[in-house]
Amino acid sequence: MEIRLRGHHLLCLLGFRGMGYSVEFSANMRVVYNELRDKPKTLITIIGGPDDLCACFPKNAEQHCENRSVYEHDKRILDKLHFVSGMTLPWEDVIHRVRASMQPEDINTLCYTCEWRSYGVCEAGVRTINQGDWMPPL
Ligand code: SF4
Repeated sequence: MEIRLRGHHLLCLLGFRGMGYSVEFSANMRVVYNELRDKPKTLITIIGGPDDLCACFPKNAEQHCENRSVYEHDKRILDKLHFVSGMTLPWEDVIHRVRASMQPEDINTLCYTCEWRSYGVCEAGVRTINQGDWMPPL
């Protein structure tokens, strides 16, 4: 199973603790989270636009997946991690890069536009990885 992810979702997955835009969105994210958690060698491809998580964004909510601000958000995170769209790599390489390139508080600047940031789960997710731990079970 190869998973397509846009830049900012690399970090959202580290902070995912079950919340999301809808039941369907969260259920899909949980499947992806568990796949990556359980099989770190799973290949992911970084794409520049709506991805396998966006696919379950609720149709009846205000759409934002193609907003310019979201593309800019993706780019901030890819630049920070020294990744580019189009790369295919094992998920564990994303984890190693986060460990090498990020501090938990970087979430505050990289994700300043995000409504979920204030929950603190994403900062905690990066901290967990930085401490050498793996993605926790949900
Ligand atoms: S703050 Fe928002 S965009 Fe950033 S990792 Fe968390 S959920 Fe994703």
